Amino acid sequence: QSGFVGSDAFGLRLSLDLLIAAVIGGLGNTNGPLAGTLLIMVMAELIAPLQNYALLVRGVILVAVLMLFPEGAIGLLRLFKRKSAKAASTEGSLAFEKVSGARLTGSGLTKRFAGVTAVSDFSLEVVPGSVHAIIGPNGAGKSTLIQMIAGLHSPDGGKLLIDGADVTALPAHRRARLGLARTFQNLQLIGSLTVLENVLLGISPNAGFFAWLSRNGFEREERERALRILGYLRIAHLAELKPAELSYGHRKLLEIARAIAQKPRLMLLDEPIAGLNAAEAREIAQVVRSLSKAGVTILIIEHNMEFVMSVSDRITVLDYGVKIAEGLPAEVRGNAKVIEAYLGTEA
Ligand code: ADP
Ligand code: MG
Repeated sequence: QSGFVGSDAFGLRLSLDLLIAAVIGGLGNTNGPLAGTLLIMVMAELIAPLQNYALLVRGVILVAVLMLFPEGAIGLLRLFKRKSAKAASTEGSLAFEKVSGARLTGSGLTKRFAGVTAVSDFSLEVVPGSVHAIIGPNGAGKSTLIQMIAGLHSPDGGKLLIDGADVTALPAHRRARLGLARTFQNLQLIGSLTVLENVLLGISPNAGFFAWLSRNGFEREERERALRILGYLRIAHLAELKPAELSYGHRKLLEIARAIAQKPRLMLLDEPIAGLNAAEAREIAQVVRSLSKAGVTILIIEHNMEFVMSVSDRITVLDYGVKIAEGLPAEVRGNAKVIEAYLGTEA
């Protein structure tokens, strides 16, 4: 309609209206500004008779919304949905879809940070479908090793194979496509998304635009799958909450849920029970066992000996970046070097 565009067209009132529309509707959500625009059109009609004071009223409304409903109209809707979702939640069992686990082979892996060799000439063979634990004191290089396997640190030496194929040079996302998923020692959840949406992040949409058009409802299958995964982990009733509202234990489960959403064949867990109470830890142990039973290969890093001894098939001990022992849980438990690394010498 406009034959001419000038700065006059974007005066204070319009700028304010656009801002209010987004805020009233709800930020961070596609439907928010849409709902907000409707609200503000109605509101503009209502306050039009106030003439010059209309701008003042707009300002008051903006401040009031920001203070009272920081998540806007959509946020309010969610609050209602959350209540109904709670009632509808079904608690599932820990039955995962069967997969064929991947084989992970590392040889001569080395990573240096200026002055410190975090991991030194490290070799490892993780058998498909097994639970393999890496233990060692703080700073031993365990997280660095996981970062190298996941593709977030490139090694300074050595080779990494998944099912015999060299992946040393592959970036993290390509390794993910090969079936590698991981959780982080310092949780990496997206705070502005709901629990369900965080799980959706792990699901790769298998559809282009036309497939999307032909299906009934945006991301419907993906959402159902994400809910099912949350159900397996018995946290489906928390689907509409934000991660920050969850207990630490549930947040850890959520990270595992997001990793499971990737349909992994190899899963890396970095300190999955650090900071959890005994009941939460038992729950994670159960999840690890079920995943393993479904065929997923699991490489786990953990401090808690009782946990490690109870879930792992094989244990590798790392100290100052060097492998000092490897074997069955019972073998490692009695190893003199391991006892020394953990408890110090008798002296
Ligand atoms: P762990 O997970 O076994 O506690 P890390 O792998 O985190 O140990 O650390 C091993 C060593 O590498 C430590 O000396 C640590 O200071 C160093 N390190 C780890 N990550 C980094 C990094 N991103 N930059 C520099 N040094 C690092
Ligand atoms: Mg660590």
